[in-house]
Amino acid sequence: MTAHIPLDAKALNDALARFPRDRAMQIGGRDAHAGGETIERRSPAHGVVVTRVPRGRPEDARAAIAAARQAFDRGPWPNETASNRSRVLLKVADLIDRDRELLALMDALESGKPIAQARGEIEGAADIWRYAAALARELSGESYASLGGDRLGFVLREPIGVVSIITPWNFPLLIVSQKLPFALAAGCTCVVKPSEMTSASTLHLGALLAEAGLPNGVCNIVTGYGPEVGAPMTSDADVDMISFTGSTGVGRAAMAAGAATLKKVSMELGGKNPQVIFPDADMDAAVDAATFGAWFNAGECCNAGSRLLLHADIAEDFLARLAERSKRVKVGDPLDPDTHVGAIISADHLVKIETHLRAARDGGAVVRAGGARLESNGLFMAPTIVAGVTPAMAIARDEVFGPVVVALTFKTLGEAIDLANSTAYGLSASVWSRDLDTAIAVGRGVRAGTIWVNTFMDGTPELPFGGYRQSGVGRELGRNAVKDYTEEKTLHVHTGPRTGWWVG
Ligand code: NDP
Repeated sequence: MTAHIPLDAKALNDALARFPRDRAMQIGGRDAHAGGETIERRSPAHGVVVTRVPRGRPEDARAAIAAARQAFDRGPWPNETASNRSRVLLKVADLIDRDRELLALMDALESGKPIAQARGEIEGAADIWRYAAALARELSGESYASLGGDRLGFVLREPIGVVSIITPWNFPLLIVSQKLPFALAAGCTCVVKPSEMTSASTLHLGALLAEAGLPNGVCNIVTGYGPEVGAPMTSDADVDMISFTGSTGVGRAAMAAGAATLKKVSMELGGKNPQVIFPDADMDAAVDAATFGAWFNAGECCNAGSRLLLHADIAEDFLARLAERSKRVKVGDPLDPDTHVGAIISADHLVKIETHLRAARDGGAVVRAGGARLESNGLFMAPTIVAGVTPAMAIARDEVFGPVVVALTFKTLGEAIDLANSTAYGLSASVWSRDLDTAIAVGRGVRAGTIWVNTFMDGTPELPFGGYRQSGVGRELGRNAVKDYTEEKTLHVHTGPRTGWWVG
């Protein structure tokens, strides 16, 4: 097959020379290799093996949980001063900065994302570690001196215990950084499982944690398949909390597994996020944001702006401009710094995207741009615009998780809000209008965890992130991010003589 997408062999060889192919898991401060069986990861753009990680077994997950339990029950970390915890987190941030290029290459090669974008994600991850370090110093409870002269009330914030952190493949280092530093800031100990397709940067992070002085056993990293190592992490009685990002289906199963021992859960799941465009919007900015929102990370993004809700008066013009601008999106070699959209994560996933598109076409939808994989030795898909879609169609409701955007139209503000709320999800949305009343009405009416007004996919650690409805449970980031990994304890103190019970 002709390679229509040129791939730079020298850039690939230079990148591969930067880090070792084989990595170990980390359990109790030691390298662990499971039974010796490994999982090979091929770059989805280049088709060559870029990393090999141990195929962890259920007993490896249990060993990691036991190490975390021991470190929590007997180790120094839960009782460490906030100052010292914060110092470790800041050191980790500096080490992430130091190894930025290496981490970006690992994420780009394993996931297929563009290197320029990966570099930005690593910078963003370091910034989150610094934010968590600041919050570590702020963690406090409450006290009540208002209960009478002989009583005092304290509400203590204690670390919740052992946390299972399970992450997906789309933003490998960024997503673990939305969870792990906050759990560590609270004084928790952790077991982390990255996706088996993108484990390298998380394993490298483990080495950075050790270099920063995190005690052994506080963060354990296991690699392998979900049913083999992820499942025990959601059911083991020694785990106190599950923090999961991934699909709604697996999130639901993880919650059910945790329910037997009543674990606390934090779930970041899927989305089918509407971008609502009114005729009075700054059209150029809205078209640009729609282009970015649809194709960023090849649409493999829980926050993808995968559902355009266009006012009927501007729908045709908007779609024409979107198709025109999309021609300037460069799909190509993830190692080329000018690439906007890289490869699709796996052959299976590409087939899944194509199956969604076939069903949409069969149901009467019209593909206005793209619609097919690109000829290449790697896994590339053309940015695809689907119109003629009705709200009842699967493509209008289900997460495709690929470079596919659907367009629906509305006539009134109420209709726009109803359409926006017409899926099972509620992760994010955007509204484009110069009219404050319109923007705020949509902002308040749409049931989603984040609403962007005249912008799209802006993020900062100060602002909480999470979903309504089947997009998740709980919030990450924001000023309560460390509190999420704590339990509240009431310490009710009596001083001096106590009045007896009436029988006394
Ligand atoms: P999954 O939900 O299958 O996987 C997420 C994580 O959970 C991975 O580490 C996975 O391991 C693990 N896992 C799988 N099964 C179990 C289990 N039984 N118990 C505990 N952990 C488990 O997502 P995928 O990565 O396979 O992606 C599939 C779909 O999920 C995408 O097409 C997309 O729709 C959605 N998705 C949503 C994301 C989001 O950010 N909201 C992110 C990624 C995907 P392993 O991969 O090793 O099997």
